[in-house]
Amino acid sequence: MLTEKIAVVTGASRGIGRAIAIKLASLGAAVIINYNGSADKAAEVKEEIERLGGRADTRQCDVSDFQACSAFIQDIVKDYGRLDILVNNAGITRDGLLLKMSEEDFDAVLNTNLKGAFHTTRFAVRQMIRQRSGRIINLSSVVGVSGNAGQANYAASKAGVLGLTKAVAKEVASRGITVNAVAPGFIETDMTAKLTDKVKESISAQIPLGTFGKPEYVADAVAFLASDAACYITGQVLHVDGGMVM
Ligand code: NAP
Repeated sequence: MLTEKIAVVTGASRGIGRAIAIKLASLGAAVIINYNGSADKAAEVKEEIERLGGRADTRQCDVSDFQACSAFIQDIVKDYGRLDILVNNAGITRDGLLLKMSEEDFDAVLNTNLKGAFHTTRFAVRQMIRQRSGRIINLSSVVGVSGNAGQANYAASKAGVLGLTKAVAKEVASRGITVNAVAPGFIETDMTAKLTDKVKESISAQIPLGTFGKPEYVADAVAFLASDAACYITGQVLHVDGGMVM
């Protein structure tokens, strides 16, 4: 159980982040649902959690903005008195072949997916060190490990998340803080809804378990890493990908 824990989930208005927020709240955590543009969707997640008897709040913050993340985390610590779990889930894609990829598309993906995780972690760790406890869980991706044509920016950002995870895990382990990554395969969300049926079929053929995953499968892995059961696990990558990477 995560009773009395304060959890922040970035990008929790939709998809995997939404499922993570609902799961952590179901285990007793008070969950701060972060979003960037989708205020209505974030409010729906809060309503859903409250309907199920949990505690939640919504907060807007663009994770690619260093100063905004400073204020975002500081406000949470001021309002809740502590911060126990940080899930860096916010992410975007801007796919395209390298020869046609603009600098803007490369930067946008790196700024949200990799720097976003750095920004929130940078400020959350300060509070977790004070508490001498904390859990940080970063969303990477199967393509951060294996690469993927048409996703040089996204794969680089998700490989970077793995390096960030391991470096910070080593830095903060002595303070009772664990830092781990979850690497989903192909999961049914808005992000993958853009793929054509033909592409989905060809990806499914490469998944040993045969189908795309559900956001709840990823949420279960995150909840495990946030729980007491994972107290001796840090700097690891948990693959939730139907066996794509072995
Ligand atoms: P999604 O359905 O597209 O949702 C993305 C979420 O990120 C939304 O809540 C969005 O908020 C938020 N977000 C985007 N930019 C943001 C920013 N600058 N600041 C704050 N929040 C921001 O994506 P998803 O499929 O659930 O993916 C969630 C995470 O899992 C991502 O890191 C993704 O890379 C990773 N992942 C996904 C898959 C997959 O197959 N779906 C596979 C591997 C890894 P707004 O709605 O407010 O914009």
